[in-house]
Amino acid sequence: MLTALEEAVLIKNGRVVTPEGILECADILVEDGKIRKIGKRLTDPGEVIDAEGCFVTPGFIDIHTHGGYEADFMDATDEAWAAALAFHLDNGTTSTVATSCTAPVDSIVRFLDFTRAYMAGEHEGACRVLGAHLEGPFLSVKNKGAQKLEQLAVPARDDYSYMLDYAEVIKTVTIAPELEGADKMTRELTLRGIVVSGGHDDGIYPEFMPAVEAGLSHLTHLYCAMSDLRFKDGRRNVGLREYGLTDDRLTAEIIADNRHIPPMLARLIVRAKGADRVCVVSDSLRAAGQPADGRVYKLGSDEDAVRFVIGDGVAVVENSATYAGSITPVRRMVKNLIDAGIPVCAAVKMGTLTPARIVGEDKELGSLEIGKHADICILDESFELVNLVLNGRKVR
Ligand SMILES: [Zn+2]
Repeated sequence: MLTALEEAVLIKNGRVVTPEGILECADILVEDGKIRKIGKRLTDPGEVIDAEGCFVTPGFIDIHTHGGYEADFMDATDEAWAAALAFHLDNGTTSTVATSCTAPVDSIVRFLDFTRAYMAGEHEGACRVLGAHLEGPFLSVKNKGAQKLEQLAVPARDDYSYMLDYAEVIKTVTIAPELEGADKMTRELTLRGIVVSGGHDDGIYPEFMPAVEAGLSHLTHLYCAMSDLRFKDGRRNVGLREYGLTDDRLTAEIIADNRHIPPMLARLIVRAKGADRVCVVSDSLRAAGQPADGRVYKLGSDEDAVRFVIGDGVAVVENSATYAGSITPVRRMVKNLIDAGIPVCAAVKMGTLTPARIVGEDKELGSLEIGKHADICILDESFELVNLVLNGRKVR
């Protein structure tokens, strides 16, 4: 008798989206959790999914998300993580990087502890967790965004040894690269395989260059809470935003919810950096997947956390105009990019292969290629999820 994992699934007649192009009317055979064959008129006695007229894409990969369905990854409980991951899976996101917000160090360590324990367990049928992203607390005062002022830290002055202790579960750390000691911190983190990402910063060129030369390689939600053109000492200076658009060593992520990044700006960014260097991230908060009924939500888990409400299609800090994060999953953002005129293959890549590559998971995930994990979305022409295959099994 076959065990669940050995069952085969055949996805037939789909518009298969690969990094190179769309294969029209093609089939994908999945076995043992992996993609085994891609071609025409494949046959197999296993389960058949008819994908005629539908896009067949890799499962989406979200490397910056705080939660969904009322839960925040910082809640650090089984129930909260199950809820947040269900929000993602319901939307075709099959891998995530659980993201913290700026909080007291104890709360961040509790979150890391939970991440480590969770990743050591088996979670069949749940959206994958690839690791943690720490968004702070080494951020600038000016561009702290929705993060809390009292908890901000400076590498030269404040302890970050806890990040080194949990290096094996940390994928990414966002820092403001102009802060004193950011270059040394960048070196120590990158040495342990952690991606150091610039963001929530307040630098001008060349203040952030020591951190870039030390290995900073990514930019957190480009154009949001990020330094830009500034007049100083009688001349104009570029910020991390403009610098980041021009340095090919840096990858970037964008919140393509048509609020944080309007469609034309998405086009500009993709034109500057290309689909291989820009990915979309949800930066979704616990309000994602919830009705817009005026309810007040917390960012993170602490009692005195920043509070926010759902505004017009976006989360907004209570009593202010500051965006707190998005309520939009990666799948919808990829559709937004397509609607903005970006070709389907490039837009899908920005929600799949490019984020996988940024966090070093592209050998196993992120594209429809033989041998990779069979995480596959079947989407109708408006990019609504019709079926979802996770780890070789049909789960939606
Ligand atoms: Zn965030």
